[in-house]
Amino acid sequence: MTDSMPLPAHPWPTLQRGWVWLCGAGPGDPGLLTLHALNALRQADVVVYDALVDAAILEWAPQAEQIYAGKRGGKPSAKQRDISLHLVDLARKGHRVLRLKGGDPFVFGRGGEEAQTLVQHGIPIRIIPGISAGIGGLAYAGIPVTHRDVNQSVTFVTGHDQSGNTPQSLDWAAISKGSQVIVIYMGMKHIAQIAAALIAAGRPLSEPMAVVTTATTATQTVLETTLGTCVADITAAALEPPAIICVGRSVLMRQTLDWQSMAAGAAPRNLDPLGRGRPAESA
Ligand code: SAH
Repeated sequence: MTDSMPLPAHPWPTLQRGWVWLCGAGPGDPGLLTLHALNALRQADVVVYDALVDAAILEWAPQAEQIYAGKRGGKPSAKQRDISLHLVDLARKGHRVLRLKGGDPFVFGRGGEEAQTLVQHGIPIRIIPGISAGIGGLAYAGIPVTHRDVNQSVTFVTGHDQSGNTPQSLDWAAISKGSQVIVIYMGMKHIAQIAAALIAAGRPLSEPMAVVTTATTATQTVLETTLGTCVADITAAALEPPAIICVGRSVLMRQTLDWQSMAAGAAPRNLDPLGRGRPAESA
């Protein structure tokens, strides 16, 4: 059991009374927690956690009161201020507060707002980064978010704005032109509009796309599709959020790098999915 396992020797910080540590829990698999997160779980009196935090992780803080503060995609963020003020209140009561958020707290997680409110109320904070779904979730699907033969940049976008609409502030045409690989969080609800915008901006109908749901958990599913067929394919597969969507040729690398299927005995589908005709490491 993890509770009985000592952390490796290191000057681990102490979570003090009246402090709030904002911590990323990673995309799902508890093994993707950082050691700082584990150190925090062991010290907290109160854990305030989100919907996307795996229940197994909370079991590593059996001593702590556990408070659910989840909101699922697209809902108005009216409760956000309540959550932030609740954290202020818990800290002022002298608790050691761990605010545990899915993925990384500063990636589409409103961690910045919560931290800002805490600082504005004079509450001392620490930020513990986590593995974001847009990187770690894709890695579990065998998709490298950057790959030298594909992309020199990557764009992370949210498919929702605060009101639950496709963000009007996003210039999809510019994103489409500027980034070979686009990683979309919270994109399921508006995938038809997003795909149409990318196609209108010149991305081919055949552009590879992957949809990874509940990435890194036991229920992970991966759909390989294209911009042109994604809406029909997502509907046919009855995929549900949470999902991370990757658009770009790095998705093809999964034909070689689908390590979970290979671990289960499958052969790699294609050793040269980008059609380079040469070993991967030749210059
Ligand atoms: N802070 C989080 C993102 C929060 S926004 C992070 O860094 O990962 C919530 C969105 O993240 C979901 O709608 C989905 O797009 C994505 N997401 C988070 N966990 C996921 C998972 N396990 N599988 C697929 N997508 C996930």
